Amino acid sequence: MAQSSPTFCPRDPHIETNLRCGRCNELICPNCLVQTDVGSRCPDCTTVQTLPMFRASGGELGKAIVAAVVTAVVVSVAAGLVLGIFNLRFGGVVAVGGAGWLIGEVVYRASGYKQTRALQWVAGLATLLAFIIVTPFEPVGTFIGLIIGTYYAIQRVKPPRGL
Ligand SMILES: [Zn+2]
Ligand SMILES: [Zn+2]
Repeated sequence: MAQSSPTFCPRDPHIETNLRCGRCNELICPNCLVQTDVGSRCPDCTTVQTLPMFRASGGELGKAIVAAVVTAVVVSVAAGLVLGIFNLRFGGVVAVGGAGWLIGEVVYRASGYKQTRALQWVAGLATLLAFIIVTPFEPVGTFIGLIIGTYYAIQRVKPPRGL
């Protein structure tokens, strides 16, 4: 009976494995493999194969940041003034929640319809900025608005699992 020598993962040398990347045929282990729609891949091939819509260049990211900050400031100052003038309690839920939704949409468009983790951070932090601006005008509802708004903002530019 032929005895095949054990093979080890090049990235995790202590782990014995006979799994291979479906693209470049390099050894991979459960620790470092990335499950994709077309099977298991090594981390290198995952990066190479990432579709353009799940990659944003520096310029696209920059546009998204500018658009997100402008949207956050304009929407939250306008909403804050309306809430303050009319003394709308709980209006912060709609103001910050709506700002988050809009920020997600704006980031998605400004980046050229990209969905990446970096864009999620941009959208999430811009929503936090909106929260900080609106809170002095209406401190009651903004926290719930922040939760709702952040959810909408980061969902809009969310990449698929594993990217
Ligand atoms: Zn590979
Ligand atoms: Zn490994």
